[in-house]
Amino acid sequence: MATLSAAELAQQAAKYEPVIGLEVHVQLNTATKIFCGCPTAFGAPPNSQTCPVCLGLPGALPVLNREAVRKAVLAALGLGCTVNEVSIFARKNYFYPDLPKGYQISQYDRPLAEHGSLFVDARDAHGRPTGGTKTIGITRLHLEEDAGKSLHEGFPDSETFSYVDLNRSGVPLIEIVSEPDMRSPEEAHEYVTRLKQIMLYLDVSDCNMEEGSLRCDANVSLRLRGSERFGTKAEIKNLNSFRFLQRALEFEILRQAEILESGGRVVQETRLYNAAEGRTYSMRSKEEAHDYRYFPEPDLPPLVVSAAAREEIAAKMPELPRAKRERLMAQYGLAAYDAEVLTATQALADYFEAAATGSAHPKAVANWIMGELAAHMNATGETLATIKIQPAHVAQLAALIAEGTISGKMAKEVFARMAATGEPPAAAVAALGLKQESDPAALRALVAQVLAAHPQQAAQYRAGKTALLGFFVGQVMKASRGQANPALVNQLLQEALA
Ligand code: ADP
Ligand code: ZN
Ligand code: MG
Repeated sequence: MATLSAAELAQQAAKYEPVIGLEVHVQLNTATKIFCGCPTAFGAPPNSQTCPVCLGLPGALPVLNREAVRKAVLAALGLGCTVNEVSIFARKNYFYPDLPKGYQISQYDRPLAEHGSLFVDARDAHGRPTGGTKTIGITRLHLEEDAGKSLHEGFPDSETFSYVDLNRSGVPLIEIVSEPDMRSPEEAHEYVTRLKQIMLYLDVSDCNMEEGSLRCDANVSLRLRGSERFGTKAEIKNLNSFRFLQRALEFEILRQAEILESGGRVVQETRLYNAAEGRTYSMRSKEEAHDYRYFPEPDLPPLVVSAAAREEIAAKMPELPRAKRERLMAQYGLAAYDAEVLTATQALADYFEAAATGSAHPKAVANWIMGELAAHMNATGETLATIKIQPAHVAQLAALIAEGTISGKMAKEVFARMAATGEPPAAAVAALGLKQESDPAALRALVAQVLAAHPQQAAQYRAGKTALLGFFVGQVMKASRGQANPALVNQLLQEALA
């Protein structure tokens, strides 16, 4: 690989179409574990949240957590899946020190839910959004328990020993497997971004990637453009950031293209991404792949989700991002991009709607929230939960500008004061002494005064040097100590100079 330049590698890869399928694990945010009553809180002292069930002690029996099922069903419905009335828990057998029972309780041939979909932006051959929509199929969504965690670092004797923390053992997970429908790293990035957003809207997970609440395995293969048949895939395991997911795929596409171009064959294997080096490494080949010897879990009955139970859960489904985006565009006349930004989180969308409902200027409200308000939160680290500016105040500010009471420039000052004090805009305007002068009679007097003071420039203007208008506007603004309504001044000056 060292012999080819980046440009040559990219050119080589362009002959091939990437085929990508993702397997995403999402930790459900239930208070207790999936088969026992132990708490799930992150960060507790190692092994302080364990019991005979999640330690895998002989004779301990699992009892399914109803809330985990409810959240999994909600996630499945939010992804448009068909929820199976009967699904089966299965033992997935493998040996690892963080898996005390020697098997993980998962689901195999009869998962909780199947046949869902998620929508991403359609893209052209260059990866640019076309404005259309593409459907990514979701093959299945199933419930399973998490394993514990091996700790290889951070202890004085870490050179010699590894430790095991079983607090995570038995935390509920859903695994969401996509169809191999994605065709670029950008599309994969968008898929996981939208997936995470839906999970957050549904409040089924905190999706905190640093804490491992959302983890992603990426499968990727290449085929010659125009070819129907899929190539051999490699699986990249345990990608713990969306940026790494995209980079790992980009690297893997170049790697596979080079193998294919030189007449070689991609081997089916599991690989790991090294973020520091920006490359993937083989972890195990297909020959070394686990044979999990799945069989139905004898300690748990089939999971039954009746139509009635499913309907009850469906009835509590919140409005999801895509529907919300479309509604905001229709209801408030927002552009697609603005609707996307304002629905980034449920809280932001709620804030916007609280401000825009009943406002005659919803687009201005949107601009203030996406502009000044977002910048303020960025700069101060505040959140929608802590900021002092009430949604209604944003609407009032937009109205003051539209009425001409204050200029857009004054509004920024007013906004800064509102952010600091929590005052409504009218009070902030008064406190700052910023009222804009929009009385035509008063402004006409100022215009006349300025023209009288500059007869030469007035004559030049009338002789055709209309660029002098800016000079006069400046003089009137100065005479008003910055309080004149600039648009009105402009208009009155042109009338007076005509
Ligand atoms: P495995 O048997 O290796 O687990 P699966 O068929 O269950 O493979 O698929 C696992 C994931 O890999 C799914 O997300 C699927 O979309 C994806 N996948 C399957 N075949 C390919 C392929 N040829 N190229 C890329 N991704 C693939
Ligand atoms: Zn337990
Ligand atoms: Mg599989």
